[in-house]
Amino acid sequence: MKVIRTEAEWKPIWAAIFKEGKQLGFVPTMGALHQGHLDLVAKSTASMDFTVVSIFVNPTQFNSSEDFQKYPQTLEADLAQLDAAGADYVFVPSVTTLYPQPTRLAFDFGDLERVLEGEFRPGHFNGVGLVVAKLFHLIQPTCAFFGQKDLQQVAVIKRLVQDLSFGLSIEVVPTRREKDGLAMSSRNIRLNPEERQQALLLYQQLSLAKERLLAGETWKQIQTDTAAAFSSAANSKLEYFALLHPETFEIFDTFRMDGPQSICIAAFVGQVRLIDNLPIIA
Ligand code: AMP
Repeated sequence: MKVIRTEAEWKPIWAAIFKEGKQLGFVPTMGALHQGHLDLVAKSTASMDFTVVSIFVNPTQFNSSEDFQKYPQTLEADLAQLDAAGADYVFVPSVTTLYPQPTRLAFDFGDLERVLEGEFRPGHFNGVGLVVAKLFHLIQPTCAFFGQKDLQQVAVIKRLVQDLSFGLSIEVVPTRREKDGLAMSSRNIRLNPEERQQALLLYQQLSLAKERLLAGETWKQIQTDTAAAFSSAANSKLEYFALLHPETFEIFDTFRMDGPQSICIAAFVGQVRLIDNLPIIA
C-alpha cells in the first residue's frame, strides 16, 4: 500500500492504471476509521482492480469549529487498517493541497439542502460538494463508494455527479452497526461510557418507529412519542426525526405503503452530534 500526499505523486499512478484499462475504486473518508469504512473498502476491492482511499478532515464542511477541532485523528492506526484491508493507495492531502486559495464557488443543492442536515448545519453540503468535486477531479475513479449512514450526503453526491457530468458511478453500502445497534461513527470515540449507553436511543427509536408504522400507527403519533422520549432522556437532545423519500428528501406527514420511505434522525448526546437512518420501504 502506498501513501500519496500530492496530485503530482498521484497522476503517473493514475495514468498507468488508466492506460491498462483497469477499474479504479475510490473511498473518500475523514479518517478515524472503523468497520463501516472498511466495509466500503471491501466493496471496492471486491469489484475494482485498484482501490484508493482518501483521508482528509475537510474544514469547509464543518459548521462548528469545536466539532472540527475535536474531530478524532488516528492516521497511523488508519493506515494499518487500510493496509490489512487490501487498499492499494491512500491519499492524504494537506489543506493547502486541496485548498490552495479560499474557494469562492458555492454549491446550492436546492430542496435537498433546505431540510435536515442542510437546515441544521448551514453550509455543510456546500463543503461536502466542494471537497468531493475536488477529489473526483484529482483521483478520477471509475466508481466511488459511500455509506448509507449519511443518506442525505448520498443524495447530494448523486446530484453533484449528474449535474457536473462526472462520468463515474456511485455505490452505496449499508450502515454497519455495533452489536447493540448503534451506527458506527468516528464521533462515537468521543462518547464517555454513560453517553455511549444513552446513544442507543437513536437506533431504538428508529426501530420502534419502523415497527409501529408497519403495524398501522400514525406517523404524527410516533413522531410525538419520539420527541417525548428524548425530552425525558438525560443528556440527549433531538434535532429532527423525519419520514422522507430517500432520494428526493421530500418530507412526508403521513406514511404510505406505496413508495420508498426512510426515517432520518439527528440528536446530541452530551456534546456529540449523531445521525442515523432506517429504510422503512426500500
Ligand atoms: P466519514 O469518514 O464519516 O466522512 O465517512 C466516510 C464514508 O464512510 C462515508 O461515505 C460514510 O457514509 C461512510 N460511513 C461512515 N459510517 C458508516 C457506517 N457505520 N456504515 C457504513 N458506512 C459508513
